[in-house]
Amino acid sequence: MATDYYAVLGVRRDASQDEIKKAFRRLARELHPDVNPDPKTQERFKEINAAYEVLSDPQKKQVYDLGGDPLSQAGGGGAGGFGQGGFGNFSDIMDAFFGTSSQRGPRSRTRRGQDAMIRLEIDLNESAFGTTKDIQVDTAVVCTTCSGEGAAPGTSAQTCDMCRGRGEVSQVTRSFLGQVMTSRPCPQCQGFGTVVPTPCPECAGDGRIRSRRTLTVKIPAGVDNGTRIQLAGEGEVGPGGGPAGDLYVEIHELPHAVFQRRGDDLHCTVTVPMTAAALGTKVPLETLDALEEVDIRPGTQSGQSIPMHQRGITHLRGGGRGDLIVHVEVLTPTKMDAEQERLLREFSKLRGEERPTGQFQPGQQGLFSRLKDAFNGR
Ligand SMILES: [Zn+2]
Ligand SMILES: [Zn+2]
Repeated sequence: MATDYYAVLGVRRDASQDEIKKAFRRLARELHPDVNPDPKTQERFKEINAAYEVLSDPQKKQVYDLGGDPLSQAGGGGAGGFGQGGFGNFSDIMDAFFGTSSQRGPRSRTRRGQDAMIRLEIDLNESAFGTTKDIQVDTAVVCTTCSGEGAAPGTSAQTCDMCRGRGEVSQVTRSFLGQVMTSRPCPQCQGFGTVVPTPCPECAGDGRIRSRRTLTVKIPAGVDNGTRIQLAGEGEVGPGGGPAGDLYVEIHELPHAVFQRRGDDLHCTVTVPMTAAALGTKVPLETLDALEEVDIRPGTQSGQSIPMHQRGITHLRGGGRGDLIVHVEVLTPTKMDAEQERLLREFSKLRGEERPTGQFQPGQQGLFSRLKDAFNGR
């Protein structure tokens, strides 16, 4: 037997898979070529890799325990060399370096603060053209009394005497597998490794206090209901004066009295009398830009739509704007007096429309083309 894999990993022959894994991780962290480029160390790293490759695989482990060399069978790597996989068990190595289970030592009192969100109501004009708003934010800021340290002025945090600053305490228990070492966060310092004997009276040791701030937010043109604007570092300061989280401003667009928004287009309906639709007219309309006129051409049908280009919402990305689409509804006269009715009958006689035959089509042609018009923006 060229190499004692158990000795290489520093585990007993009856070590559990868990213990083997832990031992490998510990050594891999120490000896990985990225951390320790010394050639001797690299040789040792190859050894622990080979040892782990064998001992972590129940089949190879069995071959090895019976006196064989599972690595020479597997890929001709030879004892102490690499098996098939080169730096095999790569995921275990990654685990050892980045895995959460490999984290040791006291945890920092300083942590990143939480993100916060605030809802902001704006009207359609502000969505269309953008605006600047002052908002009030209730948030956590660094305590100025202790500068985020959490200790009362003139005092400081001290190394925890229970864990000697390690932040964790170990306990050896006996089980049928043998001795098992477990560690848990130190109960005296909650894992921080330090204790604050006299907490800051202002923040009770948290390192931050609540405060109301006024922020100026720039709302770009083209935002929509639910758009979130990220303000980096404007969220809550973290415990121990840690870096602040981000603040998100969520846009809530208030409904407009006349215009309905669909994407970046605006829609509205104008009702005109039958005579005006037939003869044509101009109807004043307060658009987002100015007091303008909707040009109702002679012979306009009910359901027809009139686009007013570039009168909608500014596109959030890229220039240009959506359209304003005016849907026309023609009003049939009701409650006519005798004179009006007489004239209308005469008019209908002149047009030969006293007994119209009507034009029948399957389905709801009129409604369908109306919807199509709305989609095509015409
Ligand atoms: Zn304080
Ligand atoms: Zn402690």
